[in-house]
Amino acid sequence: MTTKQTHNFRPFFTLVKNANNATNALAVCNWCITKHGSLAVAQLKPECFTTNRARLCRGHLLKCQNFREYNTEEEVQRILALQIPEDIKKRKKKDGIIFL
Ligand SMILES: [Zn+2]
Repeated sequence: MTTKQTHNFRPFFTLVKNANNATNALAVCNWCITKHGSLAVAQLKPECFTTNRARLCRGHLLKCQNFREYNTEEEVQRILALQIPEDIKKRKKKDGIIFL
């Protein structure tokens, strides 16, 4: 198992092989899996998965009704506030810190 692609939203998704794109696994939302009863069902529904990228995974949770259904408002806010690499880059730029 590789840790290279791990990001803050990874724990909330189950990865499956993407037949159309070998480099990016599909990330199936764990709450969508719960809602639909099984991974096999959820991974066939385009609204239940995204590409395994932090930005895209957060984008899924932003509009996922199941995520909101199974979590308290506090938990929803906490999870959506998790950083993605793009956020960190932006912040460093703003703070005037440059990492090479
Ligand atoms: Zn979902």
